[in-house]
Amino acid sequence: MTSTDQERWSRVKGRLRAEVGEDVFLSWFARMDLEGVESETARLSVPTRFLKSWIQSHYHERVLSCWQAEQCSVRRIELTVRSAARPLPPKPKPAGHDNGAYDARVLKFDGLDGRSLSSQLNGGLESLGGSPLDPRLTFETFVVGRSNTLAHAAAKEVAAARRGDQVMFNPLYVHAGVGLGKTHLLQAVTWAGNAAGVRRVLYLTAEKFMYGFVSALKTQTALAFKETLRAIDVLVIDDMQFLQGKSTQAEFCHTLNALIDSGRQVVIASDRPPTDLESLDDRVRSRLAGGLVVEMGPLGEELRLQILKSRATAVRSMYPCFEVPESVLLFIAQAITHNGRDLEGALNRLLAHSKLTGQPVTLELAEREVRDLIRPQEPKRVKIEDIQRVVARQYNVSRSDLLSSRRTANVVRPRQVAMYLAKTLTLRSLPEIGRRFGGRDHTTVLHAVRKIEHLVGNDTSLADEIELLKRQLQE
Ligand code: ADP
Ligand code: MG
Repeated sequence: MTSTDQERWSRVKGRLRAEVGEDVFLSWFARMDLEGVESETARLSVPTRFLKSWIQSHYHERVLSCWQAEQCSVRRIELTVRSAARPLPPKPKPAGHDNGAYDARVLKFDGLDGRSLSSQLNGGLESLGGSPLDPRLTFETFVVGRSNTLAHAAAKEVAAARRGDQVMFNPLYVHAGVGLGKTHLLQAVTWAGNAAGVRRVLYLTAEKFMYGFVSALKTQTALAFKETLRAIDVLVIDDMQFLQGKSTQAEFCHTLNALIDSGRQVVIASDRPPTDLESLDDRVRSRLAGGLVVEMGPLGEELRLQILKSRATAVRSMYPCFEVPESVLLFIAQAITHNGRDLEGALNRLLAHSKLTGQPVTLELAEREVRDLIRPQEPKRVKIEDIQRVVARQYNVSRSDLLSSRRTANVVRPRQVAMYLAKTLTLRSLPEIGRRFGGRDHTTVLHAVRKIEHLVGNDTSLADEIELLKRQLQE
């Protein structure tokens, strides 16, 4: 390798630094070395496999373009792991604890003993069958970002309302994927509402509702329970998607109607919109959809970083020695993209590690510890409405044509395509899809799916068309 190559490499690094910013540069490129340049290929190395795959998937183009800006003859970047160059320190293994046990330990020496505090504060309501609350899940610790602004504002509104106030939206229905803050928001409403002391807020998971509430309603205690209900101002139900069974639903519907009709607030969270709650009775579904339905989107990088910072600060108030450099937080925020629970898990591991070994938290440590929490990008949740909209646009028919009973050829094929896409891109069942397509029978849906599968096998232009639609929907 010539000294010109080295000089060039420094200039490339300078460009990278300018483009991605100091933090990102230090996180990813500080330990990248030049191995050599041969004709069209620049060979670079990094110390870990993880760094390699990360840079490859996130920054490969960028590195190449920075290089080409200095030397346009370079067409390829080859990235290798310098395995023997710097051996990793052995992974500390505290006796009797494998990796999986880390989190459980942290929960203990985390010191924030949720249960006892919550049962003290919440004792009154727990005796009425409420689910336990986590004292950390409050509005103070809830970080607001683009994806949850509306849900947060609505929840605040609900929590601040007083008895007798006009109810603005009832029920408030929040839906989002796993780990995006539903439970946090609902418990925040409960804490805040009860702390104000004027209204009684009861927080129940749907399971608790089913097994506790409903069985009480069926037995002698039913009367006491109805009294309880009457005393509640706000009913908060978490994980609505788990509410199942005809009789439970009947009770739920009854409760819901009674509360709403008497001007009491209901707040609900679920992993899907009301229209997608398959096992629910139509009446319940429409009642749920009749309030304010808000979706919380995926946590953006900025929001993830804020959540991590606020968690780290909270932990540091218990363990002042737990120093997490900004670059490590940034790394975690960039690497763990899918949900808040794993963000917390990652920090817990670092905390466990730093407590068990007394070693400082470094980027290298973080890379090793959170590797298994990094998942490939989850496919986007596709909604049946989106499918109908996109297909209608593509074939120049209206959405109501797709749902109608018209059987002219120009409507039948698009409708079949839409049903086929609904079956392949969502987890919805055939009967559910039928229902969403103007109340068709599941056999009609099955027929459509088979028909399109068959056609795609023989007709490449249809296959291309469908591929294109899929891509539009998944982007
Ligand atoms: P869900 O109920 O939607 O599955 P949770 O409310 O249990 O998700 O959130 C998972 C974790 O992520 C919790 O530790 C929660 O505190 C954290 N979290 C999610 N969203 C936020 C947010 N906006 N601010 C602070 N913490 C959050
Ligand atoms: Mg939850």
